[in-house]
Amino acid sequence: MRPKRSLGQNFLRDDDVVRRIVASLDILPDDTVVEIGPGRGVLTERLVETGASIVAVEIDRELIPVLERRFADKDKFQVIEADFLTVDVDAVIGSIPPERLKIVGNLPYYISTPIIQRLITFGARFDRAVLMLQREVVERLTAEPGNSHRGFITVLTENSFKTKHLFDVPPEAFFPAPKVWSSVMSLIPTGVDISDHAKLSPLLSAAFAQKRKTILNNLKTYSPNAGELLQLSGIEPIRRAETLTLAEWKQLCSAIDQYQ
Ligand code: SAM
Repeated sequence: MRPKRSLGQNFLRDDDVVRRIVASLDILPDDTVVEIGPGRGVLTERLVETGASIVAVEIDRELIPVLERRFADKDKFQVIEADFLTVDVDAVIGSIPPERLKIVGNLPYYISTPIIQRLITFGARFDRAVLMLQREVVERLTAEPGNSHRGFITVLTENSFKTKHLFDVPPEAFFPAPKVWSSVMSLIPTGVDISDHAKLSPLLSAAFAQKRKTILNNLKTYSPNAGELLQLSGIEPIRRAETLTLAEWKQLCSAIDQYQ
């Protein structure tokens, strides 16, 4: 069966990388691990060996029988044929206690941002996620204030998770080899209320709309009182959105609450 480029199928073939991903999850036998996109089951194999319950969510119908056959004798393995972006979360994670739930995935590059947004909506219902993404995406997700890679998704992610870049992975670790390097990162939920996320999202979307513009100019489309809101938050109007810390974004959200 040929790997499908349209589904981002770059299968891992470096067992050392697989072991490092599994080790970074700190799996205990009582845990449940949800794997996004198990592919042919290279990473799944090592996850199953830990003795934890494994729930694999795979969109490619043709891979379902491959996985079912490979793990036919493993009663703590389950595969669900679904798109992780739309699957019913409760059907997947049910009543698993958050501290016992881990999420892992070697993800197709084109769905990195929607997957992160999906995990944000899972809220604090899991212990940690370990994801393999394109290296540039990990750089963006972990960019500190002042770094030009910092953007809308960085701040949203930082609001919901403590993030950490774990290690880089070269193209040769995959078949077929992608054109770019990948990186593995961890995301640990901070327990923030999902309503904070809902408030922050439209504000960030306006503030980062044109990265070269000042925050004041960008926020004029968000509110006619942009200048007053920035003043109330103690934020210089000539700054650029990428320089603001998460604490400053939260001050701005509080100012918006006070103003309305
Ligand atoms: N985990 C395997 C490995 O490391 O070898 C496969 C990784 S491959 C980069 C990505 C996998 O995600 C593929 O099996 C692909 O079919 C699957 N996939 C793509 N989009 C998906 C989605 N929206 N939901 C679930 N699985 C998806």
